This record gives sequence, C-alpha cells and structure tokens, in this order.
Amino acid sequence: MKALRRLTIRAALPAELAKLGEIVENLRWSWHPDSLDLLESVDPDLWQQSGHDPNRMLGEVSAERLGQLSRERKFLRRLEDVHDDLTDYLTQPRWYQQLADSPSSIAYFSPEFGITEVLPQYSGGLGILAGDHLKAASDLGVPIIGVGLLYGAGYFRQSLSRDGWQLEHYPPLDPQGLPIQALHAADGSPSRVALPLPDSRTLHAQIWVAKVGRVPLLLLDSDVEENDNAARQITDRLYGGGAEHRLEQELLLGIGGVRAIRAYCEVTGTPAPQVFHTNEGHAGFLGIERIREIVDGYQLTFDEALQAVRAGTVFTTHTPVPAGIDRFSRDLVARHLAGMPGLPTERILELGAEEDPTIFNMAHMGLRLGQRANGVSRLHGEVSREMFAGLWPGFDSAEVPIGSITNGVHAPTWMAREALEIAEREAGSIAVGQGDGFQAVDQVSDGELWRLRNELRERLVDEVRRRVHNSSLQRGMSEAELGWTASVFDPDVLTIGFARRVPSYKRLTLMLRDPDRLRALLLDPERPVQIVIAGKSHPADDGGKQLIAQMVRFADDPAVRHRITFLPDYDIGMARYLYWGVDVWLNNPLRPLEACGTSGMKAALNGALNLSIRDGWWDEWFDGENGWAIPTADGVSDPDRRDDIEAGALYDLVEKSVAPRFYDRDSSGVPTRWVQMVRHTLKSLGPKVLASRMVTDYVQQLYAPAAVSSAQMVADHFAAARELAAWRRKVLDAWPGVRVLYVDSQLDGDAQLGGRLTLRAEVALNGLSSEDVEVQAVYGAADTDDRLSDISTVRLKPIEHPDGTCWFEGELPLERTGAFGYTVRVLPSHANLATPAELAVVAVA
Ligand SMILES: *Cc1c(COP(=O)(O)O)cnc(C)c1O
Repeated sequence: MKALRRLTIRAALPAELAKLGEIVENLRWSWHPDSLDLLESVDPDLWQQSGHDPNRMLGEVSAERLGQLSRERKFLRRLEDVHDDLTDYLTQPRWYQQLADSPSSIAYFSPEFGITEVLPQYSGGLGILAGDHLKAASDLGVPIIGVGLLYGAGYFRQSLSRDGWQLEHYPPLDPQGLPIQALHAADGSPSRVALPLPDSRTLHAQIWVAKVGRVPLLLLDSDVEENDNAARQITDRLYGGGAEHRLEQELLLGIGGVRAIRAYCEVTGTPAPQVFHTNEGHAGFLGIERIREIVDGYQLTFDEALQAVRAGTVFTTHTPVPAGIDRFSRDLVARHLAGMPGLPTERILELGAEEDPTIFNMAHMGLRLGQRANGVSRLHGEVSREMFAGLWPGFDSAEVPIGSITNGVHAPTWMAREALEIAEREAGSIAVGQGDGFQAVDQVSDGELWRLRNELRERLVDEVRRRVHNSSLQRGMSEAELGWTASVFDPDVLTIGFARRVPSYKRLTLMLRDPDRLRALLLDPERPVQIVIAGKSHPADDGGKQLIAQMVRFADDPAVRHRITFLPDYDIGMARYLYWGVDVWLNNPLRPLEACGTSGMKAALNGALNLSIRDGWWDEWFDGENGWAIPTADGVSDPDRRDDIEAGALYDLVEKSVAPRFYDRDSSGVPTRWVQMVRHTLKSLGPKVLASRMVTDYVQQLYAPAAVSSAQMVADHFAAARELAAWRRKVLDAWPGVRVLYVDSQLDGDAQLGGRLTLRAEVALNGLSSEDVEVQAVYGAADTDDRLSDISTVRLKPIEHPDGTCWFEGELPLERTGAFGYTVRVLPSHANLATPAELAVVAVA
C-alpha cells in the first residue's frame, strides 16, 4: 500500500540548540557561507543526502547526535556567532535606512520565486530574478513584502529516457517540510484569504510566510479544507492547466495577494505598502483589488480610485514578443469578475482591451494600471516601446513611457565561496552598495586568479562526472557499463557552458548546425573544448523536447561523450556549479528575443567570459574586452540561412579566438591574456551586474517617485485623485476638438548653425485653458519623407491675443546642420502626470 502523504517527524531540538531552529527558519542561511558551514557540521553525511536542505536534515538527524552537539563547546560557540550575525543582519540599519523620504514599504508580486533549490517554486529566469530581487532588497534594508503562490508540486523534475526524451515528474511538496511558516491571525487561527469564483463559489487560501533575510515572502496555497475539490487544485502546479486554471491562479495572486498583505500587515504591525510592483503582468489584478478597496472604503468613483492606484503601481514587462504575453478570453475574465461586488465589470475589461475585441490582455492592463513601467535591459526597453506603441497612438515609439532597468544577480548566492573570500579579503564585502570593491581585483595576482579558475573548473568536472553517472543509471544502463563516466571531462580543458530553458528562440541546438565542425572542436588534439549543457523544455512543448533529444543523441556518441554532455534536471543547485566552473558562458538566442538574460551575469561574477549574441544585457555591456560577441545575421530573413551564418560565426570564434587565447600559456603555465580578460570582466561587469545595483535603481527611479505620487493622490481624502480624474475626463472629452490651426515661423538671420527660429502657433483648445496643455515645438533630423528622428522639444509659451484666440510662441535653436525639420504639437499637461504621453492623446500640426 502507498502512503497518501508523508511527513517528517523531527526530534525536538534541545534547548541549547534552539538558535539553530531560528537560523534554519530564515532562508538567509542559503546565501551565507558561515551558516552553511554550521549546518553542514551538524551531520555532514545527512547534509549531503538531504541535498543541502536543513529542514530535511534536522528531520532525520538522531536525538543522540543533537544531544552530543548540545554539549560540544566549539559547536555552541559557532552557533552563537552565526546567530549573532543573523540578528545583526536583521536589525541593524542598512543602505535604505539612510535615505530620506523613502517609501515605508513596497509590495513585490511575482508568479514564481527562485530562492533556493529547497523551495522549488520557480521555472526559470523570471523566478530567479524575483528571488534575487528579494535577497538584494534584504541586504540593502529595502522594506519589501514579496507575494506569490505556493504550488503543490512546483515546477517539474526532469529526467531522460534511454533515447533522450524528456520525462517529467512532479514530486508533491509537503508544506510542513518546506522552509515556510503558516501565518496566524491575532486569535491564533490560521490566516486565510477568500475571493469569489463564478457560480457563487468561494476560493479560500492559506497564507504561508518564507523569511528571506529581512524580507517576508507571502505564499498563497489553495489546498485547504474549506475549498471544493476544483478550488483546491488551483495552486497545484506552476503555470499548470488551461486558460481558466491559469486565470484563477492569477486572480488569487493579484486579488488574494493584496488581501494577504493586509492580513500580514495587521498581524505584524508592518506599515501598508505605498508602492505595488508587479513582476510581469500575471499579478495585474492586484490593481483591481486596490481600486475596490478605495471605492468601498472611501466612496470614490472607479475613475478616481484608478488614479490613486496608478500613482503607486510599477509594472515590469519581461517579454519582447507579443506571443509571450498573457491573454485570456474576455468572456472568461468577465465571468470571473462578475462576482467582484461594487466594480463595473465593463470598466475592468476596458483596462485589458487590445486590438482583438474578444481578448483580455494582461500586459495592457499592467500598463494601464501602472503609472510607471519598465523593461529589463536597454535593448528590451526599446523593443517594448515599439511593441506597445499602439497604446500611445500619435507618439513615436521613442516617447512611449516605458523605461528600462537592467536586471542583476545576487552575488552572495551565485559567487563561489573562494571568489567571495578573495573579494572580501581585498575589498571587504561587495554584496552591498555599489560594488566598487571589484576594483580591488587588481591586487590579486595573475597566478592566484588562474588558480581560482582551475579550482572551480575542477569542482565542476567532479559534479559533471557524478551527474553523468547518476543520469546514465537512471536511463537504464548498468553499473558495469559505466566505467567511462569516471573520466568524462578533463579539469584542464577549456570548458563551455550552455544552460537555460529550451524555448525555440534560445536555440539549444545551434551548435549542432554542422556536427562535424563541432566534433572537430571537441576533439582538437592540441586545443580541445568541452561543453556542458542543461535545460528543461516546457512540458507541453514537444518541439523543445525534440531539441533536447537531438542534443542527447549527439552527446551519447562514445567518440565525443567525454567532451560534451547534457545534464538533466537543471535547477539552482546544478546551475551554481556551472556558473562557478565554466570558462566560457555561451548564449545564442535569436536577437532580440532575450529580454535580458541573467545566467551570463552569474558566470561573469565568477570570472567566466561571455560568448554571446548581442542581445539583452550583453548588447549593453559587451565592450570588446570582456568576452566575445557572436555576430548576428541581421536582415537575413530565411531562418535556416540565418542559423547557418550565426553558427558558422560561433565555430570561427571558438576555433580562432577563444581556444587559442585559453591555451596560450606563459612559462609558469598561466594564460596571461585570458586572465587579463577575466580581470577586466570582474572589474567592469562586476559592479554592473549586481542585483544590489538593480534594486537601488528601482528604489531611486521607480519606487521613490511612485511613493511620492501615491502620497499626493491619497492625501486629504484623495483630493488629488478626485481632481485628476475630473481633469482627465474634461481633457479627453475636449480632445477631439483640440488642434494646431496655424504655425508661423521667422528665421532670425540666415539658416545657419547657431541661428534661431521664432515660432508662433495658433491652437484651438475647445474649451480647455492654456494651463491644461503643453504646446511644444518638436524638431530634429528630417529624412526625405520628412520623418523626424533624434527629436528634441521646446515648450512654447502662451501669449496674449486681443481677439480671444489662443497663441503660443517660442524659439528653436538651429543646432544641427543638414536636413532639419520641425512641427508643433499639443499635449495634455498636469502636475500629477508622470509623462506628457500618459493620456495617450496628442494633437500634431
Ligand atoms: C539564472 C538562471 C536562469 C535564468 O537565466 P537566463 O540567462 O535568463 O536563461 C534560469 N534558471 C536558473 C536555474 C538560473 O540560475
């Protein structure tokens, strides 16, 4: 008979070890070397067997061993030290505490969080980024509250069939065994949220809390007694099921998430968030719930409440392709929102409207509900402005109000301990602050840097051997056939890593374009290359599984299997070894489909060099000395030819640049020119790729201004929100009659550089006043079709005109030679707009 459930019954910790329980309760142990050492010393074998999961380890360690530790002076002293360190970390003022006028708290919503492999609630980059965001916020003392869902099975575990086909397993996660705690209300009962479902059903969810250093992460779990069977399944899997399942997950995340925050703040006395940040559109319904709160609590209209909510909402988009956007049938959304009392469903549906009238678009709702929005790298910002330009008709894509903050990675999580120790020795901690410490790498000799790289590569090779062995056994091979696995990979050979999810745009198999050429690189007698590959395909994507099978079949060939391998079950625990140990991190997406990419940043922090298509972050920060850019065949429309060209460029780079440099050694065996690039990578990229840089950017560029706007809207019984809503109505009603009637220009002297052009424009304001608008002269380079590019603007000032007509006047500097063009336009203007494009209306001459 099989058990329905299993749980682990722990031995009670002796009183002397109570602090161990506190250390384990806070996930900070997962990125804190002294905590990890302490935990390992509890029982090194069990630590290994548990997959470095302290909860599991403590569940299995014997009472005798605990008794012994409770009498061991040395252990108790270390326990005391680590606990003191944690207490300081949690209570001392940090970077954020020195800022003036910063938000009292910030809510951060994401459908997935990748914090540690023992809390597998992530599938890829979006979740890992969210985890790194929380950790860096904790290090900086930023008062964030994370909100997500607790999935009963998380993302799947991957193994391979004998012929290389991806197999998926969903081991159920028992919340009791996870590093999370149930939130309890003041009366001791478990804290729950509830929201309406269609057909008068109710969805209940339990609130769990994971402690991520100083940051609480609230996770909602629908597997509770009060729910009917269908509702219990809502949080069964990450991105599971069909559209309705997913919509219900997103309603729970957005609406339930706001309710969970209210419950958490009440129980713990935490100040209510002034800013709500949604990591991708999935949590967008959080704005609807906040509108409902204001409409219900303060008798504002929907439109008035919308202004207040928008002011405090930040939306981050992560996809560069329309296909990546979350879209639902409008009817499905309408059916689910009908149960939200007090809100006009029609108005909510308008927020998600797009070109197709039958569709509700979560990204469009995100942009309409957030006064501030951003993409995740400079290039992705540009791509997003083009992709969403339709929402701002009349504006050039450059003016679409979507900025960018380039992603970053959490150094203490992703840097090898040896590298962190060198950094600490030379510069003190690099994790917090702006990362100036990376300049200290100059004090480290070539020899020491190279020794570090060799050590890390060696550790990766050991891990590859262990994993190849296990995976081969799992694929049905017998121990007797597996002698070869003990010597796969070579600790002295140039090692390339490629690991990521397997959607087609990431082109897992680009390196197989010319198999003979790849084989020649792997088997080169003087300058061989070895490649370690990993990645999961979405369970529903047979195309992706096909690519994996193709890769595995190539790597199974006894002629090359010692130099190339596909490791199943890519996760944080495996990724770490790759980032530490590879010499080169390979990334070859179809440009510009990688919004940012962060894996290459993690490799760079450990001294790996990037070899990548100029996409995402690499487009921004490749400088010719920190790695290699694979040239893209831009403009080649035949995808096969494009792949051929880009694969050819990749082989050429490896053969002619990368390998020769790696194997070019001085008399003491050090590849000095390679080490020079490693040093340059650490110095130049180190400070930029940090999640602490990213989070400080969010605080300064988005959270702080959003908190100011929000406070203005809320003050005085939402006076400014009411006023702004009325003003918007007035302006939008009048707008069809607003136009530029006439433009008169006078050249001040000749049309020469340094000259000036005086402009006078007559404008029809259709009842608006000159304070409601900004009249601008827009000028720049003009092409043969008179299209303007590289534009600048000058504000024209209203001038008195006796007959009651409206005139504006100003001067244009003639600051460029060649074809120069200008026009005049009218935009709405109000102190509480974040940008003049906000109402998405403009009248151009
Ligand atoms: C960093 C990371 C990712 C995201 O990397 P990309 O470069 O965006 O593909 C995905 N999975 C794991 C385990 C990671 O560590």
